[in-house]
Amino acid sequence: MAATILDGRELGRTIEKDLMSRIDNLKGRGLHPHLAVVIVGDDPASHVYVRNKEMACERCGIKSTRIDLDSSVTEIEILKVVEMLNLDDSVNGILVQSPLPKGIDESLIIDAINPQKDVDGFHNVNLGKLVQGNTSGLLPCTPAGIMKILEFSDFETSGKNALVIGRSRIVGMPLSILLAQRGIDATVTIAHSRTKNLAEICRQADLVVAAIGRAEFVKPEWIKPGAMVIDVGINRIPDSTRKSGSRLTGDVDPDVMDIAGWMTPVPGGVGPMTIAMLMSNTVMGTELFSNI
Ligand code: NDP
Repeated sequence: MAATILDGRELGRTIEKDLMSRIDNLKGRGLHPHLAVVIVGDDPASHVYVRNKEMACERCGIKSTRIDLDSSVTEIEILKVVEMLNLDDSVNGILVQSPLPKGIDESLIIDAINPQKDVDGFHNVNLGKLVQGNTSGLLPCTPAGIMKILEFSDFETSGKNALVIGRSRIVGMPLSILLAQRGIDATVTIAHSRTKNLAEICRQADLVVAAIGRAEFVKPEWIKPGAMVIDVGINRIPDSTRKSGSRLTGDVDPDVMDIAGWMTPVPGGVGPMTIAMLMSNTVMGTELFSNI
């Protein structure tokens, strides 16, 4: 039987709609949630991501400001822009789009953001709170979006075997912590490029999250029938049938659909949820920390 498709676009729009009344409320108090996005260089994928974030702000009624910096910019110049945004009381959220050009220390830039404006949830302070079991603050958007997908599905996480493939600071690691937290109670295994017998480990999992960055890597024969499969990957692969000559695909082979119980599509699964959670963090940051 084919898997139930978990439509992140629809759920993301529902979350955005729910935010609108909170945004109206804030506006009534003279507070207009405001997201500042810093983008460095001309990486086409980054420009698409930033445009999607700006469009989400427009849909929700969040003010957005975009700061374009040339790829030749220095670390000190980026830090100065971050400091300016930190000091600007009208700005509630700051996002520095990844990846930054070679030679720029991304962690240094992220940790220069005021943690109360760190709407990506990547600052040491916000990740530290998460490790301490405090999930009430600004959580990383992709893991938070995945948790919402699980919450809105009829999948029960408690006591289930969860396999997270990928241990990045922005997806795999924080998601593993969220899945293992009290109340969610999954038994979590984290896999990475040095993991042995991945297919075998995967076959034991009731929930598989693929955050690897390798096109259609997870195969149908790795999946336990009826499992929940969350595909985080965004990979562009050649496709001669398309006018553009390429298309987007995830880290999971689409044939997994015939084995899994639930599955997120790519595109239209985790991606829109990541953006919805960015909007949610911007609103939460305004509610909790606004100085105006
Ligand atoms: P990273 O490159 O930071 O991490 C990839 C992880 O995959 C690493 O932990 C790596 O292991 C692991 N890995 C690589 N090869 C293998 C392998 N053969 N077997 C097992 N594990 C492997 O990627 P991100 O976490 O930033 O992103 C992952 C994917 O998700 C990308 O496609 C990215 O575009 C996408 N993404 C999508 C988002 C969305 O909103 N939908 C948001 C963020 C990312 P090791 O640590 O050993 O190197």
